Amino acid sequence: MPSGCALRFRAISIQGDFFIWPNSLTSLYLVAMAIGFQTDRVSEINPIQTRDTSPRDLICEICRNFYTLGWVSGTGGGVSIRRNDTIYMAPSGVEKEKIKPEDIFELDLAGNVTRHAKNEKLKLTECAPLFLSAFEMRNAGAVLHSHSPNVVLSTLYAKRVEGRISVLEFTELEMIKGLEGHGYHDVFTLPVVDNTAKECDLTDSLREAIAKYPKTCAVAVRNHGIYVWGKDEVKAKTQAECIDYLCEILVRMRQSGITRDQHPMGV
Ligand SMILES: [Zn+2]
Repeated sequence: MPSGCALRFRAISIQGDFFIWPNSLTSLYLVAMAIGFQTDRVSEINPIQTRDTSPRDLICEICRNFYTLGWVSGTGGGVSIRRNDTIYMAPSGVEKEKIKPEDIFELDLAGNVTRHAKNEKLKLTECAPLFLSAFEMRNAGAVLHSHSPNVVLSTLYAKRVEGRISVLEFTELEMIKGLEGHGYHDVFTLPVVDNTAKECDLTDSLREAIAKYPKTCAVAVRNHGIYVWGKDEVKAKTQAECIDYLCEILVRMRQSGITRDQHPMGV
């Protein structure tokens, strides 16, 4: 069942377009919405709420958004937000699009659970030590974990640098400008660590990658997904979207056989 927020945003999009579009197009659009063709559009329009909103509500909203993008399907992925000395985390192993505010855990900065989810059966996410690493090492305000197919595919092209760390390099794409400290002509280096059987066992390699690549706002995990952080949930979300875009372009370039003569990211 759609959430209250999702319904509200759909109502806004219907109302906005109704007054702008010609009647015939409006009718077509409403029919398309009725049969479920507007999922991507909801995701595009859905504005992330301001920091005045409760972190619990924000986590639910981000999970629903990411679900529509295919980033947290099958109970995968995770979202965590920090407010001062309190860290809020989505629970483990549940359908992310159905999470409710009372399902969120609260932790202190040392990683101790200070408030359990209302449902005692819910468990803290295995991503917790990874989220905490970004909060601690980068003073992040929010950390997101997605299983984006674009990122997973792109990790197959990562070049091994040393040990368990590989890299992907992106340049001369407009969306690089959405990443903190990067311009169009800069090279954005995305570290990629090898996957492990258990998510929490990624902690050491993630911390190693964060330390070795001080300009990065994300660490990808080969065959798995990505952790992205930002000073707040808006920055974390938009940077996750930019990186997903870059990864999609990389994969499409490789699939299309784009050469270095055509683009610096070609082969
Ligand atoms: Zn994961």
